[in-house]
Amino acid sequence: MKKKPVVDLDNYRFDDQLKAMQEIAETGDCPFCMENFAAHQEEETLFDGKFWLLTYNRWPYKHTKVHLLAIYKEHAEHLSEVNPEAGTELIEVFQWAAAHFDVPGGGFVMRFGDTNYSAGSVHHLHAQFIQPDIESDTYEPVRVKLGKSKK
Ligand SMILES: [Zn+2]
Repeated sequence: MKKKPVVDLDNYRFDDQLKAMQEIAETGDCPFCMENFAAHQEEETLFDGKFWLLTYNRWPYKHTKVHLLAIYKEHAEHLSEVNPEAGTELIEVFQWAAAHFDVPGGGFVMRFGDTNYSAGSVHHLHAQFIQPDIESDTYEPVRVKLGKSKK
């Protein structure tokens, strides 16, 4: 039986990211399930909660000063699979991040489910915490994409 895809190769943003995603796709192992994530983790764990692990995004969006990923610690893809208590902890995690990085403002976003709709690269549920880098000379507003681009 063919395994369910764990990454969506259409939704990459950087060439080295695509390469990493292709390697993941070949193994079929979910890169955000903790047993696999730990094996390949390069970024520091910033917060390790009951439901979420907070770390840096290896491929931050352009024009971000802070771009973190909160990864759900159980394999889940759709919002319906998430324990509502994890919502409470997610706010705590992002409050910690806002204080730790002294973030005056920004946003967080959680895309979910079918990656044709979410435009996510990894199916495993994760939330992103972003502070735009408004003081950079090349700054442009940070836009989060929902929905895959038409081919
Ligand atoms: Zn997973």
